[in-house]
Amino acid sequence: MNYFELEKKYILQTYKRQKIVFHYGKGKYLWDKNGKKYLDFFSGLSVCNLGHCHPEIIKAVQRQIKKYFHVSNIYYIPEQIELAKLIIEKSFKKGKVFFSNSGAEANECAIKLARKYGSKKGKFEIISFENSFHGRTLATLSATGQTKFHRGFSPLSPGFKYAKFNNIDSVKKLITKKTVAVIVEPVQGEGGVYPAEKKFLEELRQLCNKNKLLLIFDEVQCGMGRTGSLFAYQHYGIEPDMFTLAKSIANGLPLGVTVVKEKYSDVFEKGDHGSTFGGNPVSCASAIVTIKQIDSPGLMKNISELGKYFIQKLIDLKNKFPEKIKEVRGVGLMVGLELFEKGNEIVEKCADANPLGIIINCTQEKVLRFLPPFFITKKDVNYVVKTLENILS
Ligand code: PLP
Repeated sequence: MNYFELEKKYILQTYKRQKIVFHYGKGKYLWDKNGKKYLDFFSGLSVCNLGHCHPEIIKAVQRQIKKYFHVSNIYYIPEQIELAKLIIEKSFKKGKVFFSNSGAEANECAIKLARKYGSKKGKFEIISFENSFHGRTLATLSATGQTKFHRGFSPLSPGFKYAKFNNIDSVKKLITKKTVAVIVEPVQGEGGVYPAEKKFLEELRQLCNKNKLLLIFDEVQCGMGRTGSLFAYQHYGIEPDMFTLAKSIANGLPLGVTVVKEKYSDVFEKGDHGSTFGGNPVSCASAIVTIKQIDSPGLMKNISELGKYFIQKLIDLKNKFPEKIKEVRGVGLMVGLELFEKGNEIVEKCADANPLGIIINCTQEKVLRFLPPFFITKKDVNYVVKTLENILS
C-alpha cells in the first residue's frame, strides 16, 4: 500500500509530514514498517513522555475498556473524579478541573472562564505573547501571537493583545480597564523553545495581583514533568490562577485539563461549558497511571540532570560549530538548538542514521527541538550529540 499517495488523495493537506510510517513502538524506541529502529527524541511532540506501550498504562487501559469506553458527562464518572482529585492534590490543593480532549480545548475553557469572570465588570481583553502558541480553534488561534497562523482566518476572535515575551513593560502598556487575564507558556514550545525568565514570571504574577487579572499558564507542552517538576509553574515557584494540560497527561490518549484555583472554581455554572468526550474514562484511566508514574523523585531527578547534561553537550557542539549553531536553549528535557540555516535536512539525516535512526523535530524552520521520553540515559544523549556532530561535519 502506498501510504504517501493515499494520504495525499484522502486527507486534507494540513500537515507537512516526514516520510516515515511507524509500525510499532516500545519504550524509547520506534520501528518503521521496514523494520528500521529509531530512538525517539520527540515523544510524539511531548506526548508519550513515559515511552511507547508502557505496561502499567496498557493494563489500566485494558481494565477500563473491558468496563466501558464511554458513558456521558450527565452521569458521575469515577475515573474522572479520581483523576481530578489527584491533579488538585498535586497542584493547588484546593480547586477544581474541567476535562476536555486537547490542548486547544483546555485553553478555550480557560479563556471562557476568564471572560465569564470579567463579564460582570465589562472586562474581556486577554493579553498573550508574541511568538506564543495556544491552539487552532478560533479563540486559541487568536490568542496565539504568530501572524503566520492567522493568515486567511479573519476575522479573528476579538479581545486579544500581544505583549513581548520576557518583557514586563510591554505587558504593562497593554493593560486597560477591560483587561481580564494574561495567558503565557512558561516555556514557549512551538515558538522555538524559549524559556520564560523567573523574574519575568514573578513580575507578571505581581502585575496580575495589582490589576486583579487572572494569570493563566499554558502548560500543554511544558507541563507534566518536562521541566523537571510535575507542573512547570512549580519549577518556577510562581502560582498561576489557572493552568492547562493536555499532550502527555494520558501518555498518548486524548485528554485536556483546565485546572482552576478555588477562588475561581465557581465562575462556571451548570450549562456554561461542556464536551461529549471530555474526560473520557479510558483517557482518565491512562492519566491516573501516567501522573503517578511521572511524579516520582527518581524520574524528576533524571529529567533535571539529563536535561543539564544534554544542554551542556549541545553547547559544546555549538562551540565546535559556531558558524552553524546560533543558540542552545531549554529547561529540563525541553531543549532547542537554533541553527543559522534551515534544519529540516538535519531532521531527515537523523532519521536516516544507521543502525539506529533518531526522531527529532524542527520548529520555526531553524530550531531543532528535542522532547525525549523522561527515562533516557547519558548514552542516548551521547549518541544523539555524536550523530548531530557527524551530520554537521
Ligand atoms: N498550547 C501549547 C503550548 C501547545 O504546544 C499546543 C500544541 O502544540 C497547544 C496548546 C494545542 O494543543 P492541541 O494540539 O492538543 O490542541
